[in-house]
Amino acid sequence: MGRAPIIAHADMDAFYVEAELLDKPELRGRKVIVAGEGRSVVLSASYQARQDGVRSAMPLRRAVQLSPESVVIPPQMHRYRSLSAQIMEYFDTLTDRKEQVSVDEAFLDLTGAVRRLGTPEQMGQMIRADIRQRFGLPVTVGIADRKFIAKIASTRAKPDGLLLVPPDQRLSFLHSLPVTALWGVGGRTAEALHQMGLRTVEDLAVTPRETLQRRFGATGEQLHDLAWGHDPRQVEPERTEKSIGAEETFAEDISSTDQLSVELLRLSHKVASRLRAAGLRAGTVSLKLRWRDFTALSRSHALQHPTQSAAELHSTARSLLLGLGQRPQPVRLIGVRAEKLTDDDGAVQLSLTETGQDAHAGERLAAERALDAVAGRFPTVKAGPASLLRSQDRRSS
Ligand SMILES: [Mg+2]
Repeated sequence: MGRAPIIAHADMDAFYVEAELLDKPELRGRKVIVAGEGRSVVLSASYQARQDGVRSAMPLRRAVQLSPESVVIPPQMHRYRSLSAQIMEYFDTLTDRKEQVSVDEAFLDLTGAVRRLGTPEQMGQMIRADIRQRFGLPVTVGIADRKFIAKIASTRAKPDGLLLVPPDQRLSFLHSLPVTALWGVGGRTAEALHQMGLRTVEDLAVTPRETLQRRFGATGEQLHDLAWGHDPRQVEPERTEKSIGAEETFAEDISSTDQLSVELLRLSHKVASRLRAAGLRAGTVSLKLRWRDFTALSRSHALQHPTQSAAELHSTARSLLLGLGQRPQPVRLIGVRAEKLTDDDGAVQLSLTETGQDAHAGERLAAERALDAVAGRFPTVKAGPASLLRSQDRRSS
């Protein structure tokens, strides 16, 4: 049995306003609005101004009508951005599984931090105290074993609060909420649900799935899942790696297309196994060449479906090479690079059959994964497709 996930949603309270109050303490406790000069909409409002009905994204003119005593401050975006970067850096010290949602909000997967940081409750208190102490800013933290519940928890604990929903209270918490608390239940869906007499999440939960499916399609099924606490969404850490590549400089410049193609295959295997090890797929493949006179060229191609298969990387890189036509000079260096990286969501069978181009692609990827396993278990064994092993043998002989 694995340990229950511990997902925190940390959301700064009235972030722009609080950032302004750092050097305008005389405004603390007052009605304050940060509003853009250009489009003149409310970017952030203090909770005192919110009591008058002021909301983010509201036209400033309307906000001032509602709350005439409010002090209006123009934004200093560079300042908020730099504060945000420091706060996100702090989150990075807690976990390497952080998903930044916006300038002032992030999900943190703290499942692996229990031994280091303590119970979920202690972690939540620590985050709040640390942010208060280091930045002088209030933050609200919601903690649960599901991302969407952590988000709901922080929303309900605002401002300057902490709400922990333990796994055994997940359903009672959810079921007590109005349907509008769920992600994706906007005005129109809420209205339709209300017309069906469904006001709470519990009402949703006890409604037959088929009824919801008939009325709302796939959304109805999702709502039913959410009402029972089911949600597959994980914290998705942002990628520091923007691309993964491999290249080779030759001792002697190469003119033969066959030889270059074999090199591309070898490099494609290197890149593909690194993609698979990192759980990533390439959306774009690029080919790099350096000619004898050191000038360089690169070409890239966007794939219809992201891949982590060496065979697909190779065939794309090879077409890019052939697409160049007659080459002006012998090649000194060749490289393959995987770009536009996305998370491997395990949807390989679907994407490969969707392309319909290559019925064997799935089998080949399975074979490549088997090679990863062999290479992982016996690091000294050179694993690769037969054509490569042969060419390597030849080179070393
Ligand atoms: Mg916020």
